[in-house]
Amino acid sequence: PPFDGTSAAADIIIVGTGPAGAAYARILSEERPDLLIFHFDAGPVVSDPPGAHVKNLLDDEARASAQRRSEGPAPTDHAMTDTMAGYASDAARIVRPGTYLLDDGYRVGDQVGLPALAFSTNVGGMGAHWTCACPRPGESERIEFLQDLDDLLDEAERLLGVSADLMADAPLAGEVRKRLSEGLDGRRTRAVGPMPLAVRREADGRLWWSGSDVVFGDVTRANPHHRLFPQTLVTKVRTAAGEVRGVDVRCLVDGSTATIDAPVVVVAADAFRTPQLLWASGIRPPALGRYLNDQPQVVHAVKLRDVPPQAASRAAGPIDEASGVSWVPFTVAEPFHGQVMQLDASPVPYDGDILPGEVVGLGWFCAKDIREKDRVEFDDQIQDGFGMPAMKVHYELTEADRRSIAAATSQMVAIGDLLGEAVFGDPIEFPPGASLHYQGTTRMGQHDDGRSVCDDTCRVWGTTGLYVAGNGVIPTAMACNPTLTTVALAVRGARAIAGAAVPTQPSAERLGSHA
Ligand code: FAD
Repeated sequence: PPFDGTSAAADIIIVGTGPAGAAYARILSEERPDLLIFHFDAGPVVSDPPGAHVKNLLDDEARASAQRRSEGPAPTDHAMTDTMAGYASDAARIVRPGTYLLDDGYRVGDQVGLPALAFSTNVGGMGAHWTCACPRPGESERIEFLQDLDDLLDEAERLLGVSADLMADAPLAGEVRKRLSEGLDGRRTRAVGPMPLAVRREADGRLWWSGSDVVFGDVTRANPHHRLFPQTLVTKVRTAAGEVRGVDVRCLVDGSTATIDAPVVVVAADAFRTPQLLWASGIRPPALGRYLNDQPQVVHAVKLRDVPPQAASRAAGPIDEASGVSWVPFTVAEPFHGQVMQLDASPVPYDGDILPGEVVGLGWFCAKDIREKDRVEFDDQIQDGFGMPAMKVHYELTEADRRSIAAATSQMVAIGDLLGEAVFGDPIEFPPGASLHYQGTTRMGQHDDGRSVCDDTCRVWGTTGLYVAGNGVIPTAMACNPTLTTVALAVRGARAIAGAAVPTQPSAERLGSHA
């Protein structure tokens, strides 16, 4: 809705409607339905219910349109690839549907930078485009100082609708897992298994891939106190005397602005735009934007050996599930996380004359050697396409990273040999940023010692009422897909807010301009 320049008030403001922001809305709708929540996203609603995964749109044109509308204010070069090798081309800076690249500032000097650094700007965020893999972190991936991590992960699985076994009995899945187990399990501390996926099967047999719609759930959609404002950019978090006062917003349809008062603001605007908004607001803890880590990614494709030709897949729709998705968990000794999946469920499109499920993609993500100086900086003078402080990414791979990538590559070759024949030759190392798992920029810590941005309830050090959410909060060198953990941490933050005495605004003010 257009704003009229006047002010309004809410109890809680949430910035960003990806899975992290949606988790706050859900828990608060369940536990504090009395609180008025204003929920902003810079992007448009592209699916129904709002935040739904675009993969659920069976019509190709409708899906392509939803993807394009997620690609930011001025999608220039829509250079989608149709080959795996295309993704390995740094020069082409090829992008996945529903996401768009950082135009400028993704690399400084001769550093590797993050050439594949991408964003989604739509209600649901990247959660409308993701692959839905929801493994639990293990060993050193876990956040040891969170005693309730397993309980939080249970809750995150509930919110995301995660199923461990939905595709476990896909026609070729057992055979793929058997070959993986035979090759790996005897010597590793964590066993191969089916990949937990955020997906459910509908009564008609179709799959419904979880997006923020599932995280919101009916309880949020039915909550009259939860109000969603799409195409509304939050430009500033206002503070005074170390306390949150509210936000400034700008409608991206007509440029009108408004000031919203609230004692609690949750910024869940992804691992780059969360620190960007804090920076733009003059909230600059020393660790803000630092400890940036992306998961170096290596991929491989294998045609399964000696499997019976598969009939058409069981599920209607664009996703074939014949070989399921298998999981090779991270271990400290082998510091990478592996997923083995049918190619048309993977984020890597594949065109080929091959039977459903017969070709599997192997995607290995390495735990980064985390360094304080790998960081995103923001420019007070130059603005990005939204008028926010422009980003500049300082990022390098270390010797330890090179060793992990080499070890991951040779493990993939060995696993490829167990499964069948390589389709495209050797494994391909993707350009940094391609994992889309950006972590650390608003990291959680136990102490306000300059090495973290928020405490163990996601509250920003030194600013009462300000919470951060998203993959940036993860402090460990995590190699597995981060969204489940991110939602778990959001649950912790939301519970802290729900349990706190949030002062409700006087009712006249609550009406504001958006009643
Ligand atoms: P996002 O989903 O990125 O949402 C952030 C939102 O904030 C956006 O909607 C944006 O518009 C909004 N925003 C930003 N700035 C502002 C502002 N100033 N004002 C208002 N709104 C703002 N993860 C997994 O765990 N498993 C997978 O299998 C997996 N596969 C993936 C495959 C693909 C192709 C992609 C694109 C991603 C994948 N991911 C996967 C990553 C996953 O999607 C993200 O981890 C997850 O979406 C992060 O959630 P979030 O809510 O923190 O951020």
